[in-house]
Amino acid sequence: MVSLKHSCMAGENRKSYAVYVVLCIYINMANDMVRIKAIIFDLDDTLFDCSGTLVVRGRRKVAKTIAKLISCSEEEAFQLQNKLEEKYGTKCNVYDYIVAMFDLHPSYGKRLLEEFICIDLSGIALFPSVIETLVQLKKQGYKLFLVTFGERLVQKNKIDVLGLGNNYFDKILIAERNGVKNKKDHFLEILQYYNLKSEEVMCVGDKIEDEILAGKALGMITVMYEHGRHYKLFQQKQSVQFKPDYAVRNISDILELLSELEYK
Ligand SMILES: [Mg+2]
Repeated sequence: MVSLKHSCMAGENRKSYAVYVVLCIYINMANDMVRIKAIIFDLDDTLFDCSGTLVVRGRRKVAKTIAKLISCSEEEAFQLQNKLEEKYGTKCNVYDYIVAMFDLHPSYGKRLLEEFICIDLSGIALFPSVIETLVQLKKQGYKLFLVTFGERLVQKNKIDVLGLGNNYFDKILIAERNGVKNKKDHFLEILQYYNLKSEEVMCVGDKIEDEILAGKALGMITVMYEHGRHYKLFQQKQSVQFKPDYAVRNISDILELLSELEYK
C-alpha cells in the first residue's frame, strides 16, 4: 500500500516535472521570438516619390542657371547633373563637380545646391496605402517614428504638404544637413527615450548608406524600400558589403512582413 502510494506520488511528480519542462521550453521559445514594437520610417523615396517629382523639378530649375553659366542648352545642363550623380553617387554635390569642370567661382557649388533644394513642393503625394498602413500599424500597437534627413524647413514643409503631421507618428525627427546629429544619433535617442531594444525596432528606408547602415549597425531589423535614385545606384553597386534584412515595394507589404516575423 505504502509502496503503491509512493509510486503514485512519484508518477505525479514526474508528470509535474514534465509540465514544468514543457513550460520552460515554451517560455524560452516565446523569449526567442521576434517581437517588434516599433517601426522607424524614412520620408523621401520611402513614403513618397521624391526622385520622380522633386529631384526632377529641382534639376530642371537649376538647369536654367547652369545653361546660362556654361553656355549650353537647358536639356544638356539637366542631363549633366544626372550623369554626374550616376558617376559619383548620390552623396556627392554634383554642383561642386560642375564648378570644377567649367572653372566657375567656387561659391556656385553651394548656390546651385541651395537652388536645387529650395523648390516648390506643390503636387507631391504619398505613395498608395501609406496612411492606411500607418493607421493599421498604430491600431496593432506599434510605436511609429519618422526620421528624415535634409534642410529642416524643407523637410518640415514636405511633412506638412503630405499631411503626415496629423498624429500618425509618435515622434518626427529631422537630421539636419549641416547639423550635429545624423540618423544613427536619432535612432539611438528613440531607443533610449522609449526604452526599446534594437531588435524590437524595424527600420524602413531606401538608402543603403544612411538609414539601412545605421539600423544595421545598431542591430535593428532593416527593410529596404525599393524605389528611387538611391536604390537604383545601390542595385548597380557591387561593392556594398552588407544587405538589408528584407525588401519591400509597397508600404502595405510591411503589414504582411510583420505578421510573418511575429509567427516565425
Ligand atoms: Mg530616403
